[in-house]
Formats: sequence, structure tokens, C-alpha cells
Amino acid sequence: MNTVTQNENSFSNRARVRAEHPLISIVAPCYNEADSVELFVETIRKTVAGGDYGVELVFVDDGSTDDTRAKLTVLARIHPEIRVISFSRNFGKEAALTAGLDHAVGDAVVIMDVDLQDPPELISAFIEKWREGFDVVYGAREDRTADTIAKRFTAEGFYRLFNKISGVKIPENTGDYRLMDRRVVETIKALPERSRFMKGLFAWVGFKSVGVPYTRPVRAAGNSKFNFWRLWNFALDGFVSFSTVPLRMWSYIGGVIAFLSFLYASAIILRTLITGADVPGYASLLTFILFFGSIQIISVGILGEYISRLFIEVKRRPIYIIDEIYAHKDGAESDQELASTAR
Ligand code: UDP
Ligand code: MG
Repeated sequence: MNTVTQNENSFSNRARVRAEHPLISIVAPCYNEADSVELFVETIRKTVAGGDYGVELVFVDDGSTDDTRAKLTVLARIHPEIRVISFSRNFGKEAALTAGLDHAVGDAVVIMDVDLQDPPELISAFIEKWREGFDVVYGAREDRTADTIAKRFTAEGFYRLFNKISGVKIPENTGDYRLMDRRVVETIKALPERSRFMKGLFAWVGFKSVGVPYTRPVRAAGNSKFNFWRLWNFALDGFVSFSTVPLRMWSYIGGVIAFLSFLYASAIILRTLITGADVPGYASLLTFILFFGSIQIISVGILGEYISRLFIEVKRRPIYIIDEIYAHKDGAESDQELASTAR
């Protein structure tokens, strides 16, 4: 394991490590990507061939139910720079990224999707910026025409709202595709939380960052693993993990409503005193009851969102469970079987 010691942390030492044949880890989460993995490995190997850096490929098979695992294992037997971490079931992309970062040993780690929507040509630009002294280099999607209009619209709305109500800012139109220096990776690994909204964690740790613009192509093969419901839950996780505004806004909303009710009650009392009792009022009464009833249910629901996450955090269950790790050590094959390597 590469731990960051005081010495390694010094500026001149960092510059030296970056300049002299560093090891770059490429972490790729895969969930039912049997159609993509071979093409991905072939493309990456072509892209990095002849580079003045070493490469390791860390695949995280996120409980795929197709041939992904078998195909990755075969690839790992052929190419010694490939390691495969297989989960015991599908834990989601955020857990897969966490496992990838935990197992990568490179001086810098690049995270990318296996569907080639993150263009491999960018890796050399990432490394160049890293060598200039940036600790985080992320791909900034310039053109999202490959995504559906609905996806672009909702993504834009999400980032806008997130950046307004959370303490940390996520650069707009940024995916997970990025390079991170070893010290950034160590910092992220040290974060103990179970709900891992990685984009938020990446932004939260800070460090000197820069974006490299690119155009996001369409998927090379297979289908997107994110449907509307998964994206909705992903967004909800992001909000609740990084902002307490939804929780706190109810005291303000309550205050404003109480003030308005006071004004309204005063007006009614005054009118009754002047013109006498007035029986009609069914419609306004019902409207108020329904309105306040729904506000209460919404606020209880928001409490529930936070409490459910507290519940998950206090249980301290592992973020993922590893079934097997395939690695090719010094030419000799070693299939490490780990009953329940968990974090
Ligand atoms: N992925 C994963 N676990 C999941 C869902 C997705 O590891 O539960 C991986 C997937 O294999 C791919 C990456 O995350 O490498 C991005 O997924 P996808 O391309 O489906 O997302 P999109 O590009 O449509 O946002
Ligand atoms: Mg994709």
C-alpha cells in the first residue's frame, strides 16, 4: 500500500515522482459490461502504449450477471497489468469506485467508465496537467448532445440546485472521469461515511484542480445502467449527504406560515367584531386544512430521508463485499479468494 508519508508529501518529491516514470492506475467499474470490456482493454492498451509512465488496470466487477467477470478474468490472465475485484453482488457504481480507489496502488488514479464514453485520448492530457502540479484533473463535458434532452435537462437542474444548497461546489457538466493524485486518493479513502456520493466527496476534499474539456461520445456497446429511478435516488443521496438545507428550511417555512396565519386570524377577529359572526367559509377552511396537512407530510418525509441515512451510517455495514480478486503476480497466477473482504 502506498501511504503518504511526510517526506513523500514534500513539493519537490511530488514533482519528482510525477516526472520519473510514475505508475498510473486506471479504475473502471463494470456492471454487465460483457460487450464492452474487451474493446475497452484493447483501446486503453493502444492509447497508453509508449507512454513514459506505467499503467495498472483495476476492474471492479460490480456483481455482474452476464459474462463480464469471466471475460475480465481471461483478460487478467493475458495481461499482467490487469487486476479484477469481484463483488459478491451489485453494490452500485459509488461502492465500485470506492473499492477501486482502495485497491489502486498508482501514483495517480484515473477513474473511467468501460463503455468508452470517457475518451481514453484524454489520459495523456490529464497526466500532463498533473505533471504541471494539479492534484485533480477532471474531464469537463463540453457537449452533451450524446445524452437525451431529458437527461441533460435534469442533470443541469440537479447541479444548479446542489451547488446552491450544499457547502461544496461540483463543477457543472463533470462526470466521474478524472485523474487524482495519490494524496487526494488517500484523503478520500480516509472518509468514513457509508453513503458515498462520490462526486460530492471528490469536490469536498478540495486540492488544486483543473478541468480538461471534451465531447462525450455515445456508448460503444451495451446499455446505460441508470434509469430514471436510479438517477432520482442518486440525486436524493447527493442532496441529503451534502446539505442540511432541506432539513432546516422547515423552521423558516413554519415561521412564515405562522406569521401569515397570525395576520389572517387578526383580520377575521377584527371583521367578526365589526360585522358580526359569519357562517360560510367552508372552501377556505378546507383549503387551509389540505395545505397544512400536505406541508406536514412533506416535512415528515424529509425527516425520514435524513433519519434513514443516519440509520444506515450507525449500522456501519461495509460499503461493499468482495467475493474474489484476480491478480497476476510476477508471472505466477494468484487467485486470491477472500471470503468477505469488506470495507
Ligand atoms: N456501473 C457500475 N455499477 C452499477 C451501475 C453502473 O459499476 O450499478 C458502471 C457501468 O458499468 C459503467 C459506469 O458505471 O462503467 C457508468 O454507467 P453507465 O454507462 O450505465 O452510465 P451513463 O453513462 O449512462 O451515465
Ligand atoms: Mg455510460
